[in-house]
Amino acid sequence: MPSCDGCTACCKMLKIRELNKPGNTWCPHCKIGAGCTIYDSRPESCRVYECIWLQTQAGAKPMPLELRPDRSHVVIGATNQGEDLVLYVSPDRPDAWKHGAFGRFVATMKARGVAMVLSCGDVTKAV
Ligand code: SF4
Ligand code: SF4
Repeated sequence: MPSCDGCTACCKMLKIRELNKPGNTWCPHCKIGAGCTIYDSRPESCRVYECIWLQTQAGAKPMPLELRPDRSHVVIGATNQGEDLVLYVSPDRPDAWKHGAFGRFVATMKARGVAMVLSCGDVTKAV
């Protein structure tokens, strides 16, 4: 079974409704780079969440390690509408999605016609 293996990026980047945790703020229960200190009693939002990188690890074409969110500084999620992607980018690394392996990933997705929305602090925009 694929694992986050100490990534913990979504424990900073995402809002957690049950904890009133805003985005771009470390969850107080996170041991950064290790995991959740309340794993057995973590909220439902955390139990069900898998970023796109993690989802691909069980498939035939797993995304490479360099795109794991703790390395790329971008958490990839899906929109409620389904196939489009949301790129959650840390405000302290606002250009992380433009460069290196992640920049190539964005170019590939654009070439395939995948719509992407950038979420970076208060900014939400199509890329
Ligand atoms: S961002 Fe993805 S790989 Fe990282 S901890 Fe969250 S679900 Fe796991
Ligand atoms: S409760 Fe645990 S899994 Fe959920 S955001 Fe906090 S550290 Fe991460």
